[in-house]
Amino acid sequence: MSGKAAFARGLVWLRSDLRLHDNTALHRAAKGCRELAAIFIACPKTWRDHEEGEPLVSFRMACLRELQEEMGKRNIPLYFLELGEFSQVPAALRQIAEKLSIDAVYANAEYPLDEQRRDRAVRESLREIDVPVEYATDRTLVPPGSIRTGSGEAYKVFTPFKRAFISQYGGDSYQPLPAPHSRKDNGDWPAWIEVQGPNNLVQTVPDSLAGYELSAERGGTVLGWQPGERAAARRLDEFSEIIDGYEDERDFPAIDATSRLSPYLNSGAISVRQCAHMALEHNNDRWSGGSDGIACWLGELIWREFYTHLMDAYPRLCMHKPFKPETERVPWSGDELAFRRWTLGKTGVPIVDAAMRQLEQTGWMHNRLRMVVASFLTKNLLIDWRWGERHFMNNLVDADFASNNGGWQWAASTGTDAVPYFRVFNPYSQSKKFDPRGDFIRRFVPELRGVRGDDIHCPPDTPDYPRPICDVKETRKRAIEAFAQLKG
Ligand SMILES: Cc1cc2nc3c(=O)[nH]c(=O)nc-3n(C[C@H](O)[C@H](O)[C@H](O)COP(=O)(O)OP(=O)(O)OC[C@H]3O[C@@H](n4cnc5c(N)ncnc54)[C@H](O)[C@@H]3O)c2cc1C
Repeated sequence: MSGKAAFARGLVWLRSDLRLHDNTALHRAAKGCRELAAIFIACPKTWRDHEEGEPLVSFRMACLRELQEEMGKRNIPLYFLELGEFSQVPAALRQIAEKLSIDAVYANAEYPLDEQRRDRAVRESLREIDVPVEYATDRTLVPPGSIRTGSGEAYKVFTPFKRAFISQYGGDSYQPLPAPHSRKDNGDWPAWIEVQGPNNLVQTVPDSLAGYELSAERGGTVLGWQPGERAAARRLDEFSEIIDGYEDERDFPAIDATSRLSPYLNSGAISVRQCAHMALEHNNDRWSGGSDGIACWLGELIWREFYTHLMDAYPRLCMHKPFKPETERVPWSGDELAFRRWTLGKTGVPIVDAAMRQLEQTGWMHNRLRMVVASFLTKNLLIDWRWGERHFMNNLVDADFASNNGGWQWAASTGTDAVPYFRVFNPYSQSKKFDPRGDFIRRFVPELRGVRGDDIHCPPDTPDYPRPICDVKETRKRAIEAFAQLKG
């Protein structure tokens, strides 16, 4: 290790950044410390409180397992500790730092409210034993809070945010950081240590966690998703071959035209910088202009950035509050049976049912369909967007609080820069426009495979398939009236 290292022993605390390459905290720790170990702390009780479901947690653990193996090859031990809640982390990390004689801790910043509170408490706790903690910007391209309006406020509307982002940060090529080198001499690290609480600090990632039934299929995939950094890099590479067609094809769920990188971005098996760098490299370093497909995709990365910055600026978003306070008064229907039919993909509206079954079977749903089913739930069924938000968190392999909350509040017209309440998606028109031949519907709704032609979008009575749960025209009117009354 270089003689310039500032610290003798460092600890990298991994969270939603499960990769070796372009990991800011890991990179800094590797440069700053002569001896280095990593730690991952599972808090399944808090994860459950945050509605993080089996698909997300299974995928996260599978990525962690792969990372541990890769770190082992570089002679960097990755410790694992299972606690219950975030509130136990500061004391546990302090004990671990003492027992392992750690001089500095490095982590990448996380922005949901409870995560920020946890991180502040950790810093305080370690300060008492003189161990500095450094949180780096890594989850987003630029630090939340760094893009402000002329009057110093956070942007509430996407387009000016995007413009400001490009003007301030568009010159960067987001060159990824290298992975740490293999360490010949990395000191002695114990295989395990005792920590106060139910579990010891160990060097194996377990197959089970309290309160979760982790699902891994043969070959370690989760709902068909291959975990880990290598799989993520492969996917990015494959997507770079078709990115030019992204703008034209991204809205058609039967076509595999989007990157499907969201599970990797959210568990941190790939960084948003690596994604931006690939796209910029193929577009002569331009965020706009050049290839329409690339510019459009880069715009989606800015949507992700926007929602994370927004959550950081408005902590009430993490408290189940709508961005527009007056929408607390929407007379949501509370119809549990209708909600259940929506979750099961049995509403009798084919495109909605196909989408909900895609979610159930693959842990992922196409973006166009996320908008369609969210609009259907919140407008046609007039069911509280928070029910849908929770269902998505529990079932998505790519669940991310900021993007999910942003997407739901957009569709429900309760958010900032949301779809206007009087523009309600018609699921049948969406179906005809974006799944014109019904290929996607037939793939996920086998009961309708025999239905021919345009009937697929709104089938006549079909055995084993329910009649539509509502009249979309009448329910659209009801929703518009309910929202219009909020103004009075
Ligand atoms: C109701 C609703 C809920 C959503 N919940 C989530 C969620 O929990 N997690 C999540 O990552 N995305 C969520 N999204 C955003 C979007 O649907 C997914 O990011 C996208 O479908 C992922 O597929 P992809 O990786 O192929 O995306 P691509 O089209 O290839 O886009 C590349 C990346 O850009 C980001 N991105 C794309 N669209 C959006 C968007 N509208 N908002 C924020 N970021 C975006 C994602 O990180 C995505 O991986 C939600 C959208 C809606 C309408």
